[in-house]
Amino acid sequence: MGDAIGELAFMFPQEELLRSELGQVSEVRYTDDTAMAIGLAESIIKAGGIDQQHLGNTFADNFAREPWRGYASGPPTIFSMVEKSGITYGDAAKALFGGQGSLGNGAAMRIVPVGLLFYESPDIYDQACASACVTHSHPVGMDGAAVQAFAVSQAVKLDPQQEFPLEHFIEALIGTAKTPEVRGKMELVRQLLAEDVPPDTAASGIGRTVAVHESMPFAVYSFLRHVLSFEECISCAILHGGDRDTLGAMAGAISGAYLGIEAIPLSWGKKLENSTYIEKLASTLAGMVAV
Ligand SMILES: [Mg+2]
Repeated sequence: MGDAIGELAFMFPQEELLRSELGQVSEVRYTDDTAMAIGLAESIIKAGGIDQQHLGNTFADNFAREPWRGYASGPPTIFSMVEKSGITYGDAAKALFGGQGSLGNGAAMRIVPVGLLFYESPDIYDQACASACVTHSHPVGMDGAAVQAFAVSQAVKLDPQQEFPLEHFIEALIGTAKTPEVRGKMELVRQLLAEDVPPDTAASGIGRTVAVHESMPFAVYSFLRHVLSFEECISCAILHGGDRDTLGAMAGAISGAYLGIEAIPLSWGKKLENSTYIEKLASTLAGMVAV
């Protein structure tokens, strides 16, 4: 939902225009973020967990069927390297960016199924990295994805009827981050919230690129500033520039895990393409929770 509305916000970047457009369209379409989250869920369900070759093949098959979903250049490059030379997805991913691997937000944007499946597992960090490095093997790219998965796993365990444990939540994310880039930005999020810094200034401080340490932290900020409203969380995430669809996907993943499907306005949820299938995947994952 956040991905689809975030994508719409590229064309309608002001709240009133966006709301009016949302009211008029009969369907909202998601992008590569959700397409890859679907692929991750499908692969986990079929393979019974994270199987990198199966996961890479699922991503590649889904891309071949719907190449128009707005994929960045990295994943298709990896898919064709694997197809042509028979190397693993992990080795292909490592070859990108001069052998550094990608630190983009492409692993974090799709990670919600890992956060949901491993929400009580002590292995969640490693499982998240295992799912990430099929396409994103830079340490920052994997770390950002793991912190996003951990945020989802924390959120899904909390009861929205009780007071939100803000300090504990952000401290746990800071403690989960392993790279100075991601940890430093999560510490900045704690400071921005404590000082009640408004979104535009916060977004400038965090950064607005597609690097995971410049986008995932703003999604977390948007959630933590609006814990009780899915709508306000999404609006905050997508209306301050940057990688809007992915910011919406990441913020919506955490907010949805915390508040549940009832928090999504009916008028929005009804319009999301393929929503019945997405709900079916989520229910199947919920039935196979890993510990
Ligand atoms: Mg996208």
